[in-house]
Order: sequence, then structure tokens, then C-alpha cells
Amino acid sequence: MDRPGNFSEKTKRAVAARSGWHCSFAECGRLTVGPSEEAPDASANIGEAAHICAASPGGRRYDPKMTHEQRSDINNAMWLCVLHARLIDRDEATFSVENLHTMKEAHEASCARAISSGSGVAFGSGLFAIGPNIVCTGVFTRIEATQWTLQLTHFLSGDIHQVASYISEFGDASADHKYILSNELGDGRILSAPPSLIKDATGISLLCPVESNFPRSDVQKIGSSLAISAETNDLYLDERGSIARVSGLDYLPQLIRQNLSIQVGESVFDPSFGMRIFEYFSEYSGSPWLALLFKLDMVRQASIPFFNTYQEQRNTPLRCVTRVHSFEILASAPTDNRLPIHVDCEIKGLGRWKKEMSIYMPTAEQMEERKKILAVRPPSFARKKT
Ligand SMILES: [Zn+2]
Repeated sequence: MDRPGNFSEKTKRAVAARSGWHCSFAECGRLTVGPSEEAPDASANIGEAAHICAASPGGRRYDPKMTHEQRSDINNAMWLCVLHARLIDRDEATFSVENLHTMKEAHEASCARAISSGSGVAFGSGLFAIGPNIVCTGVFTRIEATQWTLQLTHFLSGDIHQVASYISEFGDASADHKYILSNELGDGRILSAPPSLIKDATGISLLCPVESNFPRSDVQKIGSSLAISAETNDLYLDERGSIARVSGLDYLPQLIRQNLSIQVGESVFDPSFGMRIFEYFSEYSGSPWLALLFKLDMVRQASIPFFNTYQEQRNTPLRCVTRVHSFEILASAPTDNRLPIHVDCEIKGLGRWKKEMSIYMPTAEQMEERKKILAVRPPSFARKKT
């Protein structure tokens, strides 16, 4: 007989079916069932019904106030691949009850939309950003040269009203707020016109007119710079005793590291330039969304050009990065202002490039201090609208 709090076979099958037999973990979506080579009629299953709140004391997210019935209820079950079932059982701080319920709901919503729209595979829904204030999960339903169409499943920040305002105020928006980013593609596009919102029986769809892919530089043509040591974060001398310089492929790690280390609000030249790592860290630390938001922000720096008023030119800050595959955070918090990360991306003129590095992140006090200085001394270069 089953132990109290465990799921019945009926509940396991129900939660698997509601997930389309795909893992519900954000951005996984792995198919968990398929044919087995053992016999012509055999099937293999690599999924399991995981407990959101553990069935017994000592387990993750165990809630003593729950009854055995509530623990074995489908509401407490989440269908996951074995990999992610193990992952959520290692870290209770990151995978809180609330976070897991959000993932489960987002995944089930994608499944429901996939069957009602007949649009086929819609699992492992990815994160999208539409401008700076709207982040949502969703799936691509169509990708064309001049238009991206997606179905929204869940808002992480913003809501449908904010989408409507974004559309109506599009004409007045700053040029570098007109973009769409996709974590799934690891790429983004400039919006050439306001998106259109369609709400029907299958859900909410967003039609986004896009410009063609912004051209990136070949890694050999990214120029050169004074070399900054990754260890000391300072200039150093080369073997001839001159201040060392780096160029091309040797400059690449430094270019990426420096760009990922500038926070929005820090630059004297333009406070709107930079990464939102500090902001996301303050808001999403300890949540599984954090690494996905960092990736989304790196996608922005790789694909959306920034108008450099100083040099009078438009460039993507990460210059030669054509696609971001992944962005992993290797520590739960920065040490001495350094946060270790691992990036995996596609470089023009080189191909796939993976690198572990540590990026700068200010403390909340340092960030406040910086803002005060900038308030006294306004940006020396006024913003240009393009
Ligand atoms: Zn999974």
C-alpha cells in the first residue's frame, strides 16, 4: 500500500497528461515518454510526478499544516523529467512553493493553448521581453523575416494593460526601447512598428513587425583596447614594458566581461546604457527566473544596437555575439563585488564560444552612491532620438 502523502497512480497519470508528458520546468519541456527498445509494445518513461511540498517531514518544502490528502492531491504534484525532479529536491530556497506553482501553471497554460490552437509543439515555453518593462513566457507560433508572432502564456513583469500602453505609446518611445528578445532563439530584433495584440479563444497573441537582424562585427574586426587583467582588474605591462593591449580574439573575453559588468545607471556618458544584472539580482535573487533574466539581458546587449552619441554610431554592445545559448550563475551571491558566471554563445567569425568569467556587481550601497554622484553631475552627452 502507498505511504500517506504519496501520489496514486491515477494522480500521476493525470498530472503527466496535463503536462503533455513534457517536463514542466521552465525552459526544459523535455518529452518524458517514448518507445522502448525492449519490446515492440514497450514504452520508456523518464518523467515523474514530483511533490511541490514533500510527502513526509524532512523532505523539501514540507508543510506540517497540510493534511495527507492535500499532500497527495494533484495540486501538490508537478510533472518533471528525472533531472529536474532531482534539481528541485536539492534547493529549497531557489525552488520555493510559489516558484514551482508558477512554473507548473505556465507550462499547463502552454499545453492548453497548444491543443486549442492546434499549433503543435508548444512546450518548454521561453521567456520574451517586449521593450524594457514587459517580460513574459510564451511560444513562437510564426517566425518570418519581417514579423515574429508569439502566443503569451504568463507575465513575469507587466500585464496585458502594459502591453496595450506600450503599443499606443510606441511612437514616443526611446529608440532603444523598441525591441523584442527571445531566450529560446538567444536573439532579438528591433521592432519596426508597434506590435498588435490579438485576443481570441486560443489566448493572447502578439504580432511584432521586426527589422532584419542587426549586422554584427567579425571577431577579428572588433578593434583593440588596453588590456585589463581578469585577475587584478587593472592594466598591466607586456614583456617589452609597455602597457599591454589586446585585439581581435584576445580582446573578446575582455569585451564581453566589461560589457556584462556595466550596470544600468552607472555610466556617466549615458545612464540608460548597460546590463540590468543589479536590478534583476535585487528583485529575483533565489528564484529560478534569475539566470533566465540574465540570459535575456545578455541577448539584448548582443542583438539590439545602442546609439553611441559620443562616437555617433550604432553598435550592439557585445559587437560580435550573434546568439546567446546560455548564461549560468555559478554562485548564489557576489564575493568582493565579483559574480562568477559561465556564458555560452555564438561569435561571428569564430563559432561557438564558452567561457567562465567573473563580472563586476556593485552592492546596494555602492549603487546608491553612484546614483547620487550622477544626480549632481548630469550625463555630459544628451540623448539623441533616432
Ligand atoms: Zn526537465
